[in-house]
Parts: sequence; structure tokens; C-alpha cells
Amino acid sequence: MKNIYFLGECMVELRTMNESALHQSFAGDVYNSAVYLKRCFPELNAAVVTAIGQDKLSAQMLDRFNSEQLDTRFVFAHDEKVPGMYYIETDEFGERSFSYWRNDSAAKKIVDFLTTNIVEQLSSGDMFFFSGISLAVIEQDARELFWQKVTQLKQAGVKIVFDPNYRARLWQSIDETKQQYDSAFAAADVVLPGVEDFEMLYEIDTIQGVIDFCKPYDIEEIVVKNGPKSVVTVINNEQLSHTISPVAYVVDTTSAGDAFNGVYLGARLSGREIADAVNLAAKAAGTVIQQPGAIAPKDVFQQAMAIAGL
Ligand code: ADP
Repeated sequence: MKNIYFLGECMVELRTMNESALHQSFAGDVYNSAVYLKRCFPELNAAVVTAIGQDKLSAQMLDRFNSEQLDTRFVFAHDEKVPGMYYIETDEFGERSFSYWRNDSAAKKIVDFLTTNIVEQLSSGDMFFFSGISLAVIEQDARELFWQKVTQLKQAGVKIVFDPNYRARLWQSIDETKQQYDSAFAAADVVLPGVEDFEMLYEIDTIQGVIDFCKPYDIEEIVVKNGPKSVVTVINNEQLSHTISPVAYVVDTTSAGDAFNGVYLGARLSGREIADAVNLAAKAAGTVIQQPGAIAPKDVFQQAMAIAGL
């Protein structure tokens, strides 16, 4: 069985249901990707690598991971911390804003749990995925150790996968981000950037600009997302442009990129060709943005993917 690991933070998500009630669920970019991968490719093993707490919500989060058939061997329970949380507020015009409580979350401690023994276990896997959000969450004084662990995994033959997923508010400075991203691009075998990330961080606003930026690094597979416009892949120096069918009625774009990443990586791990993998990934992302929230209802999602030929 092929193994892919998703390292990052899953949070408690709250959103308004009506005047007196909040709806509570769980979400976080790498977790979302793991869910969509597993739903499409149940024959692959998808593990979440994170830290949670020992509280009730952490137990429910773990239950949720299990109910999505995710491997939870690498979900560690911190004895003091609790998970991060965010609240989505939607104003009268449908415009969403987010408030976060994540500065002291358990997931920030994940590197503490990556012992020699755990890294040895992870070394037998096929892919190790983390995002720019995962990097931002890791505490500054643990970063050097994190890169050592990544190097060990890479040397063991695990493919390193990175999505920059830039969130300015999580970083202290642009220089700090650029430094961490440079290490990530240098380590990565597969990158899945969005043009928007590059616009904010490097003032690069074209797909070709993103590809030119990535080229000097030794990256096997570059997959550039650009919303509904197109996806361009560069694999073994072969550049291909893939057309996306725009969705007419977009409800909520949260996790479009996450769904794309999960399904793309699952398809590639399953031996699918690039164009096929991009098509399935785009179909997954297109389905997710027609539903509210990060995780689309399972039946709706599976049905759409079945129509797409999965
Ligand atoms: P992110 O969510 O990381 O910002 P994008 O906005 O580029 O990433 O979206 C990720 C993927 O979602 C795109 O590659 C595309 O496949 C799909 N997607 C995004 N917006 C649309 C849309 N309006 N119609 C159809 N597909 C879309």
C-alpha cells in the first residue's frame, strides 16, 4: 500500500448557523487535502501528521480523522495544549471574514514529536506533504530541526511535496517567509503553487513567472494553479497547459486548492498520467467550491467524482 503523510494543523471551525447557534466542524489545509485524497483513492494510505490535545474537541477531531479513514498513527496528543480554532463570520452581503485562535495551539509543537523512531517509520512512505501554512505554524526555534527531519526523509527516498499557500498574517515578516520557502523549494520534489501566492510574496503574477522562479531548484514536478483560468505542469522539462471548465455558480472557494492538491497527489501516486490527474483534481476542486465550508458532503463529492470517471 502506498503511503502519503500530510503534516500540518487541523483546527476547530466555527460558523454562524443562525442568530443563536454556531456550527462546529474541523478543517485545515493539509487535513482537507488528506480527506479528498482518501475519498477518491481509498486504496492509498493517507496519514495526518499533527499534534492535538487531550480535551474533548481533540477527541472529536481524532474521531473525525478516523471517520474519514485517515491513518492516525502520527496524530500526537500534547499534554497541555489544545487545538487551534477559527470563526467564519459572513456579513449581510455574503462576504466572509475569519478570526483565529491558533497562536498557542498543540499543532505548533509537532516537531517535538518527530523523534528518531517516528522519522524512521515515516521513511518507508512515498510522499511527505506540507504547506506554507504548516511552516508558519511550526515554532521558529523548531524550524532548523524540522528541515533536518525533512532532509532525512528525502534521503530515505520519500518524495517531498510543498504548496506555498501563503498567509501573510501567520508570518512575522516577508523575509522570514522567503527564507523558509527557499528551504522548502530546495527540498521539494513536487510543488503545487498558486499564482496568487507568488503575487503577494514575490510580485510574480503570471504562470510563466512562477515556473521561471521554480526552474533553478531541482524540482521534478511543478504544478501551477491559477483559479479557473488554467493549470500548467512542468514535469521532466515538458510543459503542458491544462484547461479548466469554470464553475458558473461558486458558493465558497475555501479549500479549492486543498481538494486539488489531495486528488492530484492521489492520482499521481496511483500511477495516473499528468493530464488525467489534473482533470480529476480540477473536477474535485470545482465540486468543492459549489458547497459551503472546507469539506464537501461525502455523497455529493463522491457522486461528482464518479461522473468524472473515478
Ligand atoms: P487556491 O484555493 O489555492 O487559491 P486556486 O484558486 O488556484 O487555488 O484554485 C485551485 C483549483 O480550484 C484550480 O486549479 C481549479 O482547478 C479550481 N478552481 C478554482 N476556481 C474555480 C472556478 N471558478 N471554476 C472552476 N474551477 C475552479
